[in-house]
Amino acid sequence: MCGVIGIRGAHEAAKIAYLGLHALQHRGQESAGIVAAQGSEHVAHCAMGLVQEAITDDHLTALAGTAAIGHVRYSTAGESMLRNAQPFSVRFHGGALAVAHNGNLTNAAQLREELEGQGAIFQSTTDSEVLVHLLARESEGDLATNVVRALTRVEGAYSIVILVNGVLIAARDPLGFRPLSLGRLPEKSGAYVVASEPVAFDLIGAEAIREIEPGEVLVIDEHGLTRAHVVTPSAAKQTRACIFEHVYFARPDSRLDGRSVYLARKALGAALAREAPVDADIVVPIPDSGAACAVGYAQALGLPLELGLVRSHHVGRTFTEPEQAIRHFGVLLKLNPVRDILAGRRVVLLDDSIVRGTTSRKIVKMVRDAGAREVHLRIASAPVRWPCFYGIDTPNRSELIAAHHSIEEIAHFTKADSIAYLSGSAMHAAVASVAAAQTKPSFCDACFSGNYPVPVCENLRRLPVMNEVVSGDDDRTLN
Ligand code: 5GP
Ligand code: SF4
Ligand code: MG
Repeated sequence: MCGVIGIRGAHEAAKIAYLGLHALQHRGQESAGIVAAQGSEHVAHCAMGLVQEAITDDHLTALAGTAAIGHVRYSTAGESMLRNAQPFSVRFHGGALAVAHNGNLTNAAQLREELEGQGAIFQSTTDSEVLVHLLARESEGDLATNVVRALTRVEGAYSIVILVNGVLIAARDPLGFRPLSLGRLPEKSGAYVVASEPVAFDLIGAEAIREIEPGEVLVIDEHGLTRAHVVTPSAAKQTRACIFEHVYFARPDSRLDGRSVYLARKALGAALAREAPVDADIVVPIPDSGAACAVGYAQALGLPLELGLVRSHHVGRTFTEPEQAIRHFGVLLKLNPVRDILAGRRVVLLDDSIVRGTTSRKIVKMVRDAGAREVHLRIASAPVRWPCFYGIDTPNRSELIAAHHSIEEIAHFTKADSIAYLSGSAMHAAVASVAAAQTKPSFCDACFSGNYPVPVCENLRRLPVMNEVVSGDDDRTLN
């Protein structure tokens, strides 16, 4: 999972990118970077850590120019290290090129092998670097044609921003797995911004125009904005936006393909209330991701919503646990129970999803220790049983609790009095019920269903850094 931003035509573009990256920080906390362009000259800076740690005022002063792209990283393919930080920035025979990618290319291993066979040298272990090589090789046509030609070779998920000699290009894969929005800066007409989520626009005072369409390529230069397509729009009928963005990943104050994430989460909670009501005293969200679902669940059942768990927002990421004394207290460090609310009560705990089950187990214990009489766990999405190969860092299958355990076993493991997930069909219906431009959306739900819209395993097995993800009984071709 990552966040990307691109700006063209604005004074101090890197500073705007910096603010936008702050708004996208939830999409990646491992590294941050910006490439700025003054005319056709690029300046780059990437570092490990949060945006405010990685990019200082001095860096921003050096990143002068009227165009910029930025990236926050959450490693999916490739280890967490500086040489994997993005944007990638290179010089090639055509000038300066920089790329920032959100998603995961499912045929990266083959392409890398092919490119290495032709003499290409890779600096990183990520799938995204393949894009840099493919783009640098296309130089025959105009810029849009070259980008389309390069993108036609890659498969899987990409929402990308590219700078070529100061020209901004934004593109989304034909299935539209990951989001990408277009906005306009007020500074003057022609100043455009693209970002993974429109929450980035709010902070920088940009107006949201629309979502970039699946398969669409936008070129933004001194003449304004021109469009091209990786596949013809008529051929790109079945799109597959990631439903997990609505469940967990995107910020609730975002809109994805015109659909409010907050309202989608409330609808998921309300649907869960219909499928799995509980005779309880209070509904308590597991902060922060369970909040909007809990509102929907409580309202649908007419139960009081109480903030029975309080989250500390000041936990440093670099904190290291003392080795012996207090082990495994990660959750305790982040959350604390409100005993006066929980004691003696029958509590429904609401969360958006369960991945490994370890966090849920600790929270159930915390709530019970605080005196709750009953603790019921309600999960506003279907059981996560499959890894994601399209840009979300779900663990390998062996670590996904629902891949190997029945609902009863998960209840036993988490020590909840009862547990219920939302059904897959209700999950789709709930998200689709929220008004949007696209009235009949079709989502990717592969991590829930195992129905992978782009085949993956054969390819990913050959990418060394992904071996771990396809271990165990994932050893089969999926489609
Ligand atoms: P678990 O009980 O499975 O250990 O943790 C469940 C929690 O993990 C939920 O609150 C959910 O919001 C969160 N979660 C779901 N997907 C992801 C993810 O991809 N990354 C991280 N860091 N947390 C996730
Ligand atoms: Fe989203 Fe899951 Fe599909 Fe990955 S597999 S794109 S997380 S719905
Ligand atoms: Mg959570």
